[in-house]
Amino acid sequence: MSKKVVIVGGGAAGFFAAINIAENRPDYEVIIIEKSDQVLQKVKISGGGRCNLTNACFDPKELVKFYPRGGKELLGPFNQFMTGDTMEWFESRGIPLKIEDDNRIFPASNSSQTIVDFFIDTTQKLGVKVLTQHRVATVLKKDNQFEIVTSKGNFIADIVLMATGSNNRMYQVISPLGHNIIHTVPSLFTFEINDNRLKTIPGISVPNATVQIKNKEFSMDGPLLITHWGMSGPAILKLSAFAARYLAEVNYYFDLEVNWLSKSDELVMSELKEFKLAHPKKTMISKSVFPEIPNRLWEQICLFVNIDSKIIWADCDKNQLQKLTNEITKANFKATGKSTFKEEFVMAGGVDLKEINFKKMESKIHPNLFFAGEILNIDAVTGGFNFQNAWTGAYIAALSIIEN
Ligand SMILES: Cc1cc2nc3c(=O)[nH]c(=O)nc-3n(C[C@H](O)[C@H](O)[C@H](O)COP(=O)(O)OP(=O)(O)OC[C@H]3O[C@@H](n4cnc5c(N)ncnc54)[C@H](O)[C@@H]3O)c2cc1C
Repeated sequence: MSKKVVIVGGGAAGFFAAINIAENRPDYEVIIIEKSDQVLQKVKISGGGRCNLTNACFDPKELVKFYPRGGKELLGPFNQFMTGDTMEWFESRGIPLKIEDDNRIFPASNSSQTIVDFFIDTTQKLGVKVLTQHRVATVLKKDNQFEIVTSKGNFIADIVLMATGSNNRMYQVISPLGHNIIHTVPSLFTFEINDNRLKTIPGISVPNATVQIKNKEFSMDGPLLITHWGMSGPAILKLSAFAARYLAEVNYYFDLEVNWLSKSDELVMSELKEFKLAHPKKTMISKSVFPEIPNRLWEQICLFVNIDSKIIWADCDKNQLQKLTNEITKANFKATGKSTFKEEFVMAGGVDLKEINFKKMESKIHPNLFFAGEILNIDAVTGGFNFQNAWTGAYIAALSIIEN
């Protein structure tokens, strides 16, 4: 029997679901309702304009580890549709992809416009109606159907898929349906740190630092980049994601401990001692002992523990060696805010996952009401995982809808 499906939100999840539904059920009327004058705006700017659409992690148990929120719930859905399926889905529809060294997957064209054009052309060909500049104010249950109240008139639907992305305003839209929104806070951001050690060395990076929020269990490792405003790079972004709620609570004022080498005190101390023995006449500041610490950062570390340009290794006493070790393995910084990471940012929070049946991506409160993408309390670190959540949710919702 023909059904009317309304998809609220013309973004990644909305278009992916629309195509999957329309390809399989030409008898269904599928409408995408979008508040802005343009659809797919986030896809367009994603991945620095290249759209990092998934990741070459092909084990569901490993994949869920990249999700600070929603990992547990996504395990089942990923067993149904995940990264490899995403690749096949796009490639079989004529979009070649490429895997980069760090496992991120992009369209081979290196342009997000390829994905945007594909979504728009395909939905057009399949007869999906796309209504822009229609802000959905609320969705109401009307007997066995739904009424979608928009800024430009109301719509009746048999099936609704909510795919509006994540924002606190969604509470007004879905609260009449009895759904609960976990308050949203930003995730994936860089740290503002105003510190003399960093001021002169923006652009310097180390390949494997450990960053920890002082006196808290949040700790991450990976490459770290010093920026004009503080610190960025994968280690910082991962920390911002896993500690997103705590950092919002403390208004982004916190003490950060950095281990520039991710090595123990003992190991660093013994390597320093070895170097001292081998190079007693060398000035300490002139060359980094560790290949992973660039000379300019080494110089800042030395200056911070009062090792100036005259001190040679032979003059360095036990006390100074200990100070130097501490500054390498547990340097303290005061973060005083956050900045946006322009390549990708997301919101933590959204529809409470307890209210969703993840076998169908359906509301446990109302049959025929589905959710996909960032509207759910799911988010991931960078690397294509946020889109993967959108594709997986949209695919499973579409499958449930077409089997309806
Ligand atoms: C700058 C940037 C770069 C990113 N890069 C990447 C990347 O490379 N890889 C990755 O995996 N993730 C990336 N992300 C995250 C990714 O874009 C999102 O996780 C993904 O777009 C979520 O898809 P969605 O369909 O749930 O929401 P969206 O794509 O945000 O789509 C939601 C749509 O709903 C519309 N909408 C909202 N409210 C209403 C309403 N009331 N009525 C009607 N319409 C409404 C919005 O206008 C929007 O078009 C990036 C995010 C940003 C901000």
